[in-house]
Amino acid sequence: MANYIHPAQLWVASRDKLVAEVKNYLQSIFCNKNCGNTCTICKQIENNQHHSVYWAQPENQYTVEDTQVIIKKMSLQLNVDEKFFIILDKADYLTPLCANSLLKSLEEPPAGYHFILLAQKKDLILPTISSRCLIKILEDNFNIDENILTNFILENIDNFNASKLIKILDDNKFHERDCQEIIDVLILKLKQKYKSELANNNFDSVQKNLNLLQKVTNLSRKLPMPGSNKLFWKNLYLTLCSSKH
Ligand SMILES: [Zn+2]
Repeated sequence: MANYIHPAQLWVASRDKLVAEVKNYLQSIFCNKNCGNTCTICKQIENNQHHSVYWAQPENQYTVEDTQVIIKKMSLQLNVDEKFFIILDKADYLTPLCANSLLKSLEEPPAGYHFILLAQKKDLILPTISSRCLIKILEDNFNIDENILTNFILENIDNFNASKLIKILDDNKFHERDCQEIIDVLILKLKQKYKSELANNNFDSVQKNLNLLQKVTNLSRKLPMPGSNKLFWKNLYLTLCSSKH
């Protein structure tokens, strides 16, 4: 007898961990030989080639076409006891429109179909989606380190170093959705600097920090779209470095 599997699960962790955990989970469901992940079925799952698993991976945001593909997959009736898993990678990239078109399926998919939604942060998932899911937080302490980026920017404004910035962006893979958080930290640090310069009567520095604050605030009004994160930070850094102060 197969155990009950919730029709829609939401798993939260860093992306690498999610992919590894989902593959393990699928292997435990489809292979019951305890093979040590060496059999054909396990290898197919490892290589994303298993016929009963569909990985949806949006290029940027999910499109209506993406959700139509998913709905069409589910139109095929499964045999009794047969299972089919739909993995929605980057579920935080579901737009409200796409999410709406999947709500009914998430709540009550056709017999044998199951959803696993993957995301790096639970807060980024639309509430209409997360309320329908069984939520599994695999990595609670997964956090971005805002300081790596903000410290670099603040310490290198007079000492423009684009290649170092690009290396930091490449090494840390900041998510577009983290932008607001990082900008907030940057603004906070600039304000602290401004206050301490003011207390020390360094009026040139006070003015400089005010200019920087204004520029960061302006740039923060237009946060990056998915896929344009690196460009956003390069532009921000360049704008701050080219301040006349
Ligand atoms: Zn196996």
